[in-house]
Amino acid sequence: MERVGLGASASDMPLEEFRRFGHQVVEWIAEYLAGIERHPVLARVRPGEIRRRLPAQPPVEGEPFDVILRDFEEILLPGITHWNHPGFMAYFAITGSGPGILGELLAAALNVNAMLWKTSPAATELEQVVLDWLRQLLGLPPEFEGLIYDTASISSLCALAAAREALGLEVRERGLAGRAEVPRLRLYASEEAHASIEKGAIVLGLGQAGVRKIPTDDAFRMDVRALEHAIEEDRAAGWRPFCVVATVGTTSTTSIDPVAEIARVCERYGMWLHVDAAYAGAAAIAPEFRHVLEGCERADSLVVNPHKWLFTPIDLSAFYCRRLDMLRRAFSLVPEYLRTEEAEVRNFMDYGPQLGRRFRALKLWMVIRYFGQQGLAARIREHVRLAQQFAAWVDADPDFERMAPTPLSTICFRARPSSLAASEDDLDRFNEALLEAINATGECFLSPTRVRGRFALRLAIGNLRTSERHVRRAWELLRTHAARLCAEWRRASEGIPRDL
Ligand SMILES: *Cc1c(COP(=O)(O)O)cnc(C)c1O
Repeated sequence: MERVGLGASASDMPLEEFRRFGHQVVEWIAEYLAGIERHPVLARVRPGEIRRRLPAQPPVEGEPFDVILRDFEEILLPGITHWNHPGFMAYFAITGSGPGILGELLAAALNVNAMLWKTSPAATELEQVVLDWLRQLLGLPPEFEGLIYDTASISSLCALAAAREALGLEVRERGLAGRAEVPRLRLYASEEAHASIEKGAIVLGLGQAGVRKIPTDDAFRMDVRALEHAIEEDRAAGWRPFCVVATVGTTSTTSIDPVAEIARVCERYGMWLHVDAAYAGAAAIAPEFRHVLEGCERADSLVVNPHKWLFTPIDLSAFYCRRLDMLRRAFSLVPEYLRTEEAEVRNFMDYGPQLGRRFRALKLWMVIRYFGQQGLAARIREHVRLAQQFAAWVDADPDFERMAPTPLSTICFRARPSSLAASEDDLDRFNEALLEAINATGECFLSPTRVRGRFALRLAIGNLRTSERHVRRAWELLRTHAARLCAEWRRASEGIPRDL
């Protein structure tokens, strides 16, 4: 390719070159996805290994794109943990689906910044339409208006900001510090709620002390009587309870808080109800799981992440609110250089801390259109079926046990070898060793959690490429390695080794 001369030095990649590498990259992606199981799902590199292979200084002269692509494959790919691998069952498994990947590609090409309606009317209006589609798919009432943020963490942060704005304390104008007339604000979430809620409170100046964690019942759901008790106690002590965050699908065990009962409490005390349904909300697309969002029609705001269980490449978090005006009141600040004349339009920059925003709606639009309601529901249904089957295998095996109920597609369990007389601490260590062995196989990747303080393995199904074969294989690996470890432990006893 011609790279010299004044013209070339001030211009983009020539289109014929773009075309050539564009085809090559799409081909590469297809091959990558076709051969994904050839890669170990969890990257096998040591900290710093990738970094050491990269030049510390930037190139002075431009480099040919085929060389760059070669380094992508040779240097970076070994350091990739393959979230698109069917054996990826850690955290919450996700999918960069075909239509989602193509949507991202087109969004990058258009490269619009949808901060204002006029800076790309189609981006703003598609976002409104596609979030209203998703609202209908989830069975939420039309009073909920939606917008897209990058992550659930930011969606929840904005919900808390709106909830605080609704108190009318002029926090926006006057801040919180040094105001003796403002009561200390408190929000409530279960002890199983996601860390992002507490982080949001930190960012908003409410502090960690502004979050009260409510105990959970046997099934890890918020104890509503404990919630009411906490609110009463705080009111008596001079706190101002202002918001409850209910979780539909907690991160550890995917438990589902009793949202309808929590809504009743919020209504009684005039508190904002925010629902964090980042993972489990998507299940409501299948009619038989619609019930997971029961009570959410009474919430003030709700977040669900299509980048989790709705086959949309990260990042895309859908935020719904019946009082978007509060969000606007909390965040809208229009400098002269961003003034526009259209009156009846939505300028999304008014609804959050950030100005610039990507055209994320495009990929979600493509995903929803490509799969359709039935296609999405069928895929979610299949993931739940696979998980329930896995849970049944665990239950039927005398050497394993489930650590929590399995309402959807995530199982918390552990090995409990019947031939091993092990204390709870021993079981923690045994299962830690088991997890490490499983993940070292490269065939699957599970993550750990703690359930009531005890170490648990967590298997989450949510990738479109995960089929029954992969779940069976994960189970086979777990049983084989548990048996092997068990034999090793027994050989090493009397004393069980402390440092496996
Ligand atoms: C994953 C998850 C989050 C965080 O999601 P991000 O989009 O990564 O911020 C929040 N809440 C729950 C319940 C989650 O499962």
